[in-house]
Amino acid sequence: MRVRGFCCGWLEGDVADLIEGEQGRARLPVPAYLIEHAGATVVFDSGLHPDFRDRQSARYLAVAPAFDALLPEGTHLAERLEACGVDVADVDVLALSHLHFDHGGGSRLLAASELMVQRAEWLAALADVDGENYLPADVDRDRFPHLLDGEYDVFGDGRVTLFPTPGHTAGHQSLILRTDDGGELVLCGDACYFQRSLRRLAPPPHAFDRTTQLEGFHQLGELESSGARLIFGHDPEQWPTGPDDDFIVELSSPVP
Ligand SMILES: [Zn+2]
Repeated sequence: MRVRGFCCGWLEGDVADLIEGEQGRARLPVPAYLIEHAGATVVFDSGLHPDFRDRQSARYLAVAPAFDALLPEGTHLAERLEACGVDVADVDVLALSHLHFDHGGGSRLLAASELMVQRAEWLAALADVDGENYLPADVDRDRFPHLLDGEYDVFGDGRVTLFPTPGHTAGHQSLILRTDDGGELVLCGDACYFQRSLRRLAPPPHAFDRTTQLEGFHQLGELESSGARLIFGHDPEQWPTGPDDDFIVELSSPVP
């Protein structure tokens, strides 16, 4: 198994909206991941839509009250995959943690991939026609996703498993990878934004369901206690370089 992560954009926003009890502004990474296993290619999350390069685009203006978005040349999902030597047409599965603009925005770049999303998330996004929580333009209504109802073992071998972590949104999911060295790598998505959110049990103040999200924190904490490595949703500490760098990281088990 080979796992690579990269940032498909950055967001600058108010920390008070992201974690209880903090203030100030922060530049947040918007990660996506490429997983190659058993001769197949899986992408987890898809970053910002390419429109975010245009500060006058409808997408940019829709989120501008809350965030400044950065999407330098070479950093949207298709460009990142190309830099990894992967053609978008060759991605078998696109799994999305949830359908917010910074996770599902690049999904139309992988139009041929099997889209895997929790049924509860898909229905919540479709129902949000006024775009209060989702950007309607990023919800691909013409697509027929593989809707999941709970945990899903993508290859049937226990190596790549989606599991529900609702709370941030109605149907959020995270991904656990069992890597070649026997370790566990958890791609949290927005089940938990920052490492310190988990340490302090401090979810964002506007979670879809705070109680359920805190249950997810405990679930993630137990995985970490058992030895799993957690990659959080938007933690600058885990993605220390910024948009001036072309940043692709091997997360585990690099091909020698
Ligand atoms: Zn996010």
